[in-house]
Amino acid sequence: MEDKDLESRLYDKSYTCPVCDKKFKNKEIKKGKTIFVEMNLGLRGKFKPIMPDYYYVVMCDECGYAAVSKTFNKTTQKQAKKIREKVNPNYKPRKYHTIYDTNDVIDRYKVALYFCYLKDSTMSERGYICEKLAFLYAELNDEEKELKYNKYAYECYMEAYKKENLPIMGMEENQFVYTLAYLAYKIGNNDEARKFLSKIIVKRNLSTTLKEKVDDFVTILKLEKREDENKA
Ligand SMILES: [Zn+2]
Repeated sequence: MEDKDLESRLYDKSYTCPVCDKKFKNKEIKKGKTIFVEMNLGLRGKFKPIMPDYYYVVMCDECGYAAVSKTFNKTTQKQAKKIREKVNPNYKPRKYHTIYDTNDVIDRYKVALYFCYLKDSTMSERGYICEKLAFLYAELNDEEKELKYNKYAYECYMEAYKKENLPIMGMEENQFVYTLAYLAYKIGNNDEARKFLSKIIVKRNLSTTLKEKVDDFVTILKLEKREDENKA
């Protein structure tokens, strides 16, 4: 698809930066301008012609502060103060393609992750970003980095599960526990994955999508178990 067509699906959304107070614009997708195709095992929706999560990071041109759209406007005064103490006064805006490619998006998520450390964010916010980075590295077939970020995501979400209140990053309990099962599976911990799945498989209030994914997941785990037993 031509860049012109893709560009026409985007618009500039205005923001006021919670850190530097300046107004700036951020590229976002117009409503209805990207079409759902399918959902993968990790509950990442595939869309055409633009992936919505390519446009989830909001980044200020003036000071460089970046966060995912779920949390950008929820940046607290205390966090803004922490960031202000550390931002570079000579900040120059980072350069990206008009239509972001996967590497642009990875860079944007990494900047958002960097600010998570600066502002002492919740573990769930870090986990959410790492989960996205793992998906993006999977697109690039970089298995090593995919594994690395899935591990981080799992660790952060496990911490969040102990300390934070649901919903976590917009995920209600069933979806969150499913995500833990998925990440455990992706980092090679199938026993843990089964344990989490067994918690939600008994639930009657699963959404249709989640129920389908749970069924797929159970089948995959059963097949892998059988393969392991055959090898043994
Ligand atoms: Zn700013």
